[in-house]
Amino acid sequence: MTILCNLADHWKELHRLSTTSYETLSDAFQDHLRTGRRLFKLSEGTIRREEEDSPEISAGSGPRIETPIVVESETFATLSFSSPSANVARTFSGAEKELIELMARSLGRIILEHRQLDRLKFQARHDSLTALPNRVFFIELLESALVQARERAGLLAVLFIDLDRFKQINDTLGHAIGDRLLQNVAVRLRSLLTAGDLTGRMGGDEFTVVLPRPRDVHSVIGASQEFLDALREPYRFDGHELFVTASAGIAMFPQHGNTAADLLHNADLAMYRAKNAGKDALEVFVTEDLALGLERLRLENALRRAIENREFDLLYQPVMRMNGEIDGLEALLTWRHPLHGTISPKQFIPIAEEAGLIVPIGSWVLRQACLEGARWRKAGYLPIRISVNVSALQFERGDFAETVADALALSGFPSKCLELELTESCVMRDLAGSVIRMSRIRDLGVSISIDDFGTGYSSLSYLTKLPVDSLKIDQSFVRNLQEPEGSLPVVQSIVRLAHSMNLTVVAEGVETAAELDLVRVLGCDKVQGHVYGPSLSRQATETLLMNRNAVHALV
Ligand code: C2E
Ligand code: MG
Ligand code: MG
Repeated sequence: MTILCNLADHWKELHRLSTTSYETLSDAFQDHLRTGRRLFKLSEGTIRREEEDSPEISAGSGPRIETPIVVESETFATLSFSSPSANVARTFSGAEKELIELMARSLGRIILEHRQLDRLKFQARHDSLTALPNRVFFIELLESALVQARERAGLLAVLFIDLDRFKQINDTLGHAIGDRLLQNVAVRLRSLLTAGDLTGRMGGDEFTVVLPRPRDVHSVIGASQEFLDALREPYRFDGHELFVTASAGIAMFPQHGNTAADLLHNADLAMYRAKNAGKDALEVFVTEDLALGLERLRLENALRRAIENREFDLLYQPVMRMNGEIDGLEALLTWRHPLHGTISPKQFIPIAEEAGLIVPIGSWVLRQACLEGARWRKAGYLPIRISVNVSALQFERGDFAETVADALALSGFPSKCLELELTESCVMRDLAGSVIRMSRIRDLGVSISIDDFGTGYSSLSYLTKLPVDSLKIDQSFVRNLQEPEGSLPVVQSIVRLAHSMNLTVVAEGVETAAELDLVRVLGCDKVQGHVYGPSLSRQATETLLMNRNAVHALV
């Protein structure tokens, strides 16, 4: 870029000054610089004349002198002086040349200062990783968007997006990969923005979007779904292929809040409901979310102290063979809250996962189940297999196999009596990695089953790749078996496929004798469910084991 300074009057000034001393020249130049500050406006690294139509912008045709303006060791622009007309016979004196060089240096310094100031301003308002507006700046932007929405009495939507299981990616693949993922997410979000839309990073894996002029809530849902779809596309970098989903909540102005803080908070609460509904989902704020949010916070705090307060306990649900014999026990975690009584894992496991508490809780369950199993053996009960549910967050930790080995070593419980239950979606998220981790567990002698089978992915072909021992058909299928257009054919093909691969099939949640008959006819190998009564306390389990011993003694 060349800055052409015809400088009609400056020329005169220079001409006049050149006859005076150098000191006077530089003093005068200081004034000139001050003019310079006004003449040039800096924005994002480009230098522009403040008055675009200023006559001074046109180049003269007379003799010319050019000096580079160097900023951060690069030529930012060339300062070029020329006389107004070719007719003016004019040469540049040494002092004038010096002055012009000084001017170029000073302009360079001014530009650098502006740049640094711009950078500082940018850094204070943007997240350094993704360059998106940070929380503080985003709230400012949202507030001004709200002012406009109020003025036109229009709608505005706030979308709160949180990646599902980001912590796990960070923990298992490292922070560098986590950072790359966040940068990619920011790029994808930004690519979907249309004029006026805003996006920001609230911190961690939380992103926000403002749609400033939505038609109605339906259009917001449509747009939000597009954001989630874009984030669901696989991420490929550094030889990794990551499958990531996100959950999101929507809050609308003015319906769901008047201030930036309220809208963000309420969109966040709606997002939590989406997470609780099984993640990879979108929810619009409803008033009940406020109470749920508070409840969630209370539960999370109580959950933090539940292990040390000895509020957890294991219940056991028998896994039955078709001939009525007990095949094993599934350990089910239960929480006896001092005020709220017994809380179901369906309620607190998602909270424990979000709060990063599932890892210590899961290790406790594993240790406890192994200790109990070992104690029963010592007490003389016949060997029994115990199944333990494993959360994706535990499974994907690099040290999970060691945790399992430690629990076995500590308790003395034989590995062949331990089974771990992994859900289909947990295994599918990173199939190649899962195969490696599952093999490590099986190398310990521990068996693996796929829990809630059928709820996750439609393709069954992945099963052939997995080192597993059994499939547990989710209770939703069992519940549907008797419906006219029900799940019977699906279950039939799952059983056929599983058997062709030498996998055992367990039907879960069998409640009635009719369901029991059906799953038997369909070829399921084992059943679990209330048809055999509710899950058992430790004491009730011991009674069951005692009876089993007695029956065995008779045979
Ligand atoms: P799951 O592993 O599929 O466990 C079966 C759930 O179905 C248990 O609920 C069980 O009580 C229930 N159930 C069993 N038979 C029947 C039936 O006939 N009818 C009906 N309606 N329900 C039946 P629970 O104990 O509430 O556990 C829910 C889920 O919480 C479990 O599903 C499992 O995914 C998770 N969970 C439980 N314990 C743990 C644990 O120690 N660690 C982890 N990570 N997750 C756990
Ligand atoms: Mg289970
Ligand atoms: Mg299940």
